[in-house]
Amino acid sequence: MSDTSVIVRCKNCLTLNRVLQSRLRSKPVCGNCKTVIEVPQEPLWAKAESFDREVAYWPETLLIFFTASLCLHCKIIDPLVRDLALKRTGKLKVMKVDVEADEYLARRFAVTKTPTFIVYRNAVEVIRVDGAPKDKTDLVTWIDNLMGYTSY
Ligand SMILES: [Zn+2]
Repeated sequence: MSDTSVIVRCKNCLTLNRVLQSRLRSKPVCGNCKTVIEVPQEPLWAKAESFDREVAYWPETLLIFFTASLCLHCKIIDPLVRDLALKRTGKLKVMKVDVEADEYLARRFAVTKTPTFIVYRNAVEVIRVDGAPKDKTDLVTWIDNLMGYTSY
């Protein structure tokens, strides 16, 4: 596979940095301010107070996974979501919202079912799916179609 690059925004100075995918795991630094660029490789728990910033600052695809501790469908799909986050590091960021622990975000997005998925591209909502997809691999297909994965 060829070594493609991804665009990651520096959390310190907000500069967009182009980073080779092969370098993502070796603590790349921002070309402008030399701060280590954080590239999430696994789903992060969203926080109400930083949610909008996280959405606004991520230039690539962002998946929000609304989940609940007792939701069986969530448990089934969770490993797949983790796998998505790991395999598409730098291109896809995944944030989880526990709808029981974070009522503010659950209410704000009027989440009535778990799992619910919302996908952002460049901070714009592009897909929302309430409830478990018919086939859990549908989720991978949506994400890959959105990311134009093969065209990179
Ligand atoms: Zn910087």
